[in-house]
Amino acid sequence: MKKILVTGGAGFLGSHLCERLLSDGHDVLCVDNFFTGSKQNIAHLMGNPYFEVMRHDVTFPLYVEVDQIYNLACPASPIHYQFDPVQTTKTSVHGAINMLGLAKRVKARILQASTSEVYGDPEVHPQLESYWGRVNPIGIRSCYDEGKRCAETLFFDYWRQYQLEIKVMRIFNTYGPRMHPNDGRVVSNFIVQALKGDDITIYGDGSQTRSFCYVDDLIDGMVKLMNSPADFTGPVNIGNPGEFTMLQLAECVLSLVKSKSKIVFMPLPQDDPKQRQPDISLAKKELDWEPKVALIDGLQKAITYFEKVI
Ligand code: NAD
Ligand code: UDP
Repeated sequence: MKKILVTGGAGFLGSHLCERLLSDGHDVLCVDNFFTGSKQNIAHLMGNPYFEVMRHDVTFPLYVEVDQIYNLACPASPIHYQFDPVQTTKTSVHGAINMLGLAKRVKARILQASTSEVYGDPEVHPQLESYWGRVNPIGIRSCYDEGKRCAETLFFDYWRQYQLEIKVMRIFNTYGPRMHPNDGRVVSNFIVQALKGDDITIYGDGSQTRSFCYVDDLIDGMVKLMNSPADFTGPVNIGNPGEFTMLQLAECVLSLVKSKSKIVFMPLPQDDPKQRQPDISLAKKELDWEPKVALIDGLQKAITYFEKVI
């Protein structure tokens, strides 16, 4: 049994990770400021004596004793991370400094939930870990993209300077139960709109692509990365290489929900990446990981969840 800290543990991915770590027999400390996460996401874990929750903002130092740290704290949806962009950068940068400092003091292994956003609007397709990205440093997505890039820098500097055991995971768009119904991300938006019979809002002409990974696959990759040999630091892409246009996604959701919603086209937000698809050869080779859940099956599970919550 390990003592494991999950920052952002009350969020969408964090709550699934806490659940998985508890079922693997670990002692889990969930730290969250509940900015986008909720107690509801972790309510079913509260009775477990090996689960503990602490309300704390990672931009402030944290003194606890743990063996491993998963650093997930950070709003992930564009509307949430653009709500208070200064706080978003602080969460990524000060949060990383604080969690790396903690890892250094207690000699814990630490994993960073980085993102495909470090590739920006990419000229290389699919994206390989060796690609340095094309990110606008002064746009409305920059608080998130550059914050996450700086966090990666900090992780690698702590590794070079202090020989910390680091793991950097570049997460591509992930979906599933416990996404916030109003968090503005495309999968939750389309499903909620289809279920309510509201218009399906496609931004731009819907030709932009994303690759969607079901949450269980993602968590499996995350745990495998954390427990990989010490000399494997990443960065490593974890995502589902199946690539879809937003128009295809909308049509797929409409047919699964059997909804009469109409598709409407709205302005494309600034700096919205045109295409995104992970090259996962490194994850396959180093972690023996690849996603198993097809989009249609994962969407069905997410639809069943949203039917209950809305
Ligand atoms: P989420 O918004 O559901 O979860 C983030 C959690 O972090 C929330 O519980 C929130 O309250 C907490 N948080 C935010 N700021 C904090 C702070 N200063 N101190 C403490 N807690 C704080 O998002 P998610 O989808 O679960 O994403 C989790 C992580 O994975 C994020 O770091 C995100 O950048 C990364 N990621 C997610 C995706 C995805 O598709 N879901 C893709 C790439 C990267
Ligand atoms: N998008 C859309 N309609 C929506 C929400 C999002 O067409 O209601 C588009 C968005 O412009 C982007 C893609 O879907 O091209 C994915 O958006 P999301 O916010 O889920 O993630 P990210 O852009 O960070 O990959």
